[in-house]
Amino acid sequence: MVEKDNSLERRLTHDGVVHHPLGGGSYVFEKGYVDYLVRQIIKEKVRISIGAQPNSSPHFGTLVVFNLAYALAQKMSAHSDSIQSEVFFEVIDTAPSETKTICGIDYQISLRDSKVAENHLDEYSELLGLLKGFTGVDYTMRRQRDFNSQQGIPHILRKIVQNRETLAPILDSQRGLLRMRIACSDCGLTDKNGVKNRYHDSSMESYCPEHGWFETSFDDESAKFEYNTPLRNLIRALVYSSDNQSNDVPFEWLRVTGSDYAGYYQEQLLYKAASLLGTAAHKLPTIVYAPLVVDWSGAKLSKSLYVKENAYKDLPKYLVNYDKFRDKLGEEGVRKMFEEVSSWLDDSFKLFRSYSVYYFMGLFGDE
Ligand SMILES: [Zn+2]
Repeated sequence: MVEKDNSLERRLTHDGVVHHPLGGGSYVFEKGYVDYLVRQIIKEKVRISIGAQPNSSPHFGTLVVFNLAYALAQKMSAHSDSIQSEVFFEVIDTAPSETKTICGIDYQISLRDSKVAENHLDEYSELLGLLKGFTGVDYTMRRQRDFNSQQGIPHILRKIVQNRETLAPILDSQRGLLRMRIACSDCGLTDKNGVKNRYHDSSMESYCPEHGWFETSFDDESAKFEYNTPLRNLIRALVYSSDNQSNDVPFEWLRVTGSDYAGYYQEQLLYKAASLLGTAAHKLPTIVYAPLVVDWSGAKLSKSLYVKENAYKDLPKYLVNYDKFRDKLGEEGVRKMFEEVSSWLDDSFKLFRSYSVYYFMGLFGDE
């Protein structure tokens, strides 16, 4: 009889040889991927957009995304003298910090209202500062309030609300709700799923269980709006697309995000929805997907599972977040990680796949 522990150990044994079989994206974009991206750029300035919810220290997957954004900016500028690239960090400080149920409806208090966001942004700044030091690429940070204060937002909000009967079932396949929300100005409680929202031509009414109904104008108060991830993804892409098309805007956008958002997610939630609103898919900004970091079973490494359920007991702690990564491996480790991710752009077939935690443990000499 084979004992359980031994069989587990045997299953995790590997020969250490890394294969990169070609197929799909890696076949088509095997070489010259940066060149392909540069050819699509029309303007002289490029903003490479990345996003994160600052609810903890940047997790390992976020490290990969941020490294890829900087490496791409550096290589695009090096590739063509006429391109100036910068990294643009969209801070999702509207993500939930706490949730409570009142009369069967879920209400949330967002990170910005609970001030949790502030506690972790220093670590993000430190990481961005180090990457800037390696590459010479500048960065800018923007909060959701500033994103939503842009001139083009009221028009997009109005259009989405007008088309909500078609859009909501696409963006929220389970409940068919338009997931827009506004925090109560008195207590911060926010109808998480927009269950009680009442929509009008130029405003939205929201409900607070403590303070009752309140109305928010698309034109004068767009800064207050918050969205769930698919709706935010759509609105951001529409704003970027409009900037890219406009001659008055001196830069154009390119997005870098994790490949858990690639494929079916964007086809259904972004390209279909944008097309229904009259924006053609070829006018949406290009998205470059960062490889996922996966555990032994092939599942995405999850920081919340580690925090809440004491998962990954057998893995080194530096695989969890930037804080622990920096403590264990220092600035040299951050540089090594950057060089690794940067090399995936040189051999671009390496970009169209996932990497297991064991791959990184090999890289950092911790097997
Ligand atoms: Zn209230």
